Amino acid sequence: MSTITEVFGSNVFDDRVMRERLPKETYKALQRTIKDGHSLDINAATVVANAMKDWAIEKGATHFTHWFQPMTGISAEKHDSFISPTGDGKIIMEFSGKELIQGEPDASSFPSGGLRATFEARGYTAWDPTSYAFIKDGVLCIPTAFCSYGGEALDKKTPLLRSMQAINKQALRVLKLFGNDDVKSVKTTVGPEQEYFLVDKDVYDKRKDLIYTGRTLFGAKPPKGQELEDHYFGIIKPRVQAFMKDLNEELWKLGILAKTEHNEVAPAQHELAPIFTTTNIAADHNQLTMEIMQKVAQKHGMVCLLHEKPFDGVNGSGKHNNWSISTDTGVNLLNPGETPYENAQFLTFLCAVIKAVDEYQDMLRVSVASAGNDHRLGANEAPPAVVSMFLGTELTEILEAIENDAPYDSKEKEILKIGVHTLPKFPKDTTDRNRTSPFAFTGNKFEFRMLGSSSSVSCTNVVLNTAVAEELSQFADILEKADDFEAALHELIKKTIVDHKRIIFNGNGYDDKWIEEAEKRGLLNLKSTPDCLPYSLHEKNMKLFTKHKVYTETEMRSRYEILSENYSKVINIEALTMLDMAKKDILPSVSLYAHELSDTIVAKQACGDVDCSYEQDLLKKVSKLTGTAYKKVAALQDAVLKAKDITDNTELARFSKDYLFAAMSELRITVDELETCVAAEYWPYPSYGELLFSVK
Ligand code: ADP
Ligand code: MG
Repeated sequence: MSTITEVFGSNVFDDRVMRERLPKETYKALQRTIKDGHSLDINAATVVANAMKDWAIEKGATHFTHWFQPMTGISAEKHDSFISPTGDGKIIMEFSGKELIQGEPDASSFPSGGLRATFEARGYTAWDPTSYAFIKDGVLCIPTAFCSYGGEALDKKTPLLRSMQAINKQALRVLKLFGNDDVKSVKTTVGPEQEYFLVDKDVYDKRKDLIYTGRTLFGAKPPKGQELEDHYFGIIKPRVQAFMKDLNEELWKLGILAKTEHNEVAPAQHELAPIFTTTNIAADHNQLTMEIMQKVAQKHGMVCLLHEKPFDGVNGSGKHNNWSISTDTGVNLLNPGETPYENAQFLTFLCAVIKAVDEYQDMLRVSVASAGNDHRLGANEAPPAVVSMFLGTELTEILEAIENDAPYDSKEKEILKIGVHTLPKFPKDTTDRNRTSPFAFTGNKFEFRMLGSSSSVSCTNVVLNTAVAEELSQFADILEKADDFEAALHELIKKTIVDHKRIIFNGNGYDDKWIEEAEKRGLLNLKSTPDCLPYSLHEKNMKLFTKHKVYTETEMRSRYEILSENYSKVINIEALTMLDMAKKDILPSVSLYAHELSDTIVAKQACGDVDCSYEQDLLKKVSKLTGTAYKKVAALQDAVLKAKDITDNTELARFSKDYLFAAMSELRITVDELETCVAAEYWPYPSYGELLFSVK
């Protein structure tokens, strides 16, 4: 048995391998590329490619691929083998510098939102040397960005890298004002906590809805759900434990720092958290984690559900995006410091985040929008659809003291002055952490909790990085001109608190009163995807992303089209699946059951004056519900047909929500009631109870 330290990163072409296998000069050149973004000349790239190929072949790889993240949200790869004919009927294994740096996948079928007409189908992939190459299933995977020949981003990684550059640039300006001349670069870091469900494969295979849509479209509540909360952090079942052990090992091989795992609130729900890392790498790793989770589950005879809401009435799955900013000198800029100077710098960055979240709450909401996540947000479990920030009592009191020119607690006499006073220590308390807040300060980082479990972390971090970059640039503009830096900073922080404190809310985010209060404060409550997506086209948001060169206007519009279209497609597939299930399986089964009941009644009545009230009452009830379900099927069918005539994406998304989804919800109510009346052996699908408790 090899040890964990041997296993860790064993399938990654990481720094250790590079040092070992590259000539010193090439290693140094590559380091410069990784650290400072200098381009790598083709000769050096050829040396790197060769070393990568030899290493990969030794590990059993035969193919290579440019691994990228198109706007579908899942990763894509097209495999090419290393073999190259030598002309004498033999082959050699080859991988050139050019093949490492740039690829050209035939990408005409990836969504581009009109960015790339099909006749100009070509897009190219470009190596991201900051994310290490790795081997997966015998294939050398090169992490890449994916662009059109016109330079437009066709993926989720390119804008993410651009947003990291934007925040780097603006944060450096601010840090310079604080005298940090040694800092050369600033990076954002992310640790995404990933929730998921595990169900038994045999049970899963009997549910068309899970197979086609990832969630149950019908299903009556089981007698036992999550009420007892006996699953949360409970004992992990042996099958799940074996899965987690395997999963960890697979992730470790890829250098993914899988660290904690536990049961979640709902039965069959679990969570995995890695140790945080640089944002683009965290995004790559999270994509890989989701993929490997599904593969390893299959090996264990289970299916890993990453859908945001696989089961109605049971908690859904999210992804918590833990986010911070740190310098290349190792300082976490969201860590309150020890000295007045460190505190002032911390408060400046904190205020930039507060202002960013308030001003771009709409874009943060857009960044987590999907048909699946609509079931979670605002559904009394995950954070509400209203974006607000939790800072905790101590920090809020400090901000109030600054705002009111007051001492920060009753024992203090002096007015709190930035740059003069040391802030009190904030206890890094994990016990009273507000779990209902969408955006919580957790001691030295922020935790954004609105992401859906299946979504890529890229979009959210693009918004966060860019919005904070904008606020930092505004701060730098003011402070660079100031004669008295400390006074100007004090004023700036005070003004930011006054202007943006409406976004701060430390109470219970699930409370209906908060939703009313939020409305009074003028905060947005964008309940569904069609409600929020149009905000991404607002001038304010266009300006933000174009100013910082993260998205062009065309790229923003293309993303809007893709997201709207994707939403309607998902609803349409769900509607069709429901119709299929109702027409082919549920109604016929119920009809058979009614037949059985009426046969029983006839047989009983043949015996004379026998009590048939059970069968008769049940038959009446089942028949009535069947009639209602039949009408609702017709209504849904009608809505599906109407949707077909709508060509405009915005209009279709709206229609899908207001009519299709509404008709689906209606049908579900009746069918779920039917399920409670029909004998188990007649019901065509495994019940919620069987699904949720299928893994022993
Ligand atoms: P929990 O939220 O479950 O109590 P932790 O607070 O320990 O757990 O961490 C949650 C996640 O936050 C982990 O993935 C961790 O690596 C990540 N994290 C910790 N510090 C930072 C940071 N500075 N930047 C980004 N993520 C971080
Ligand atoms: Mg957490």
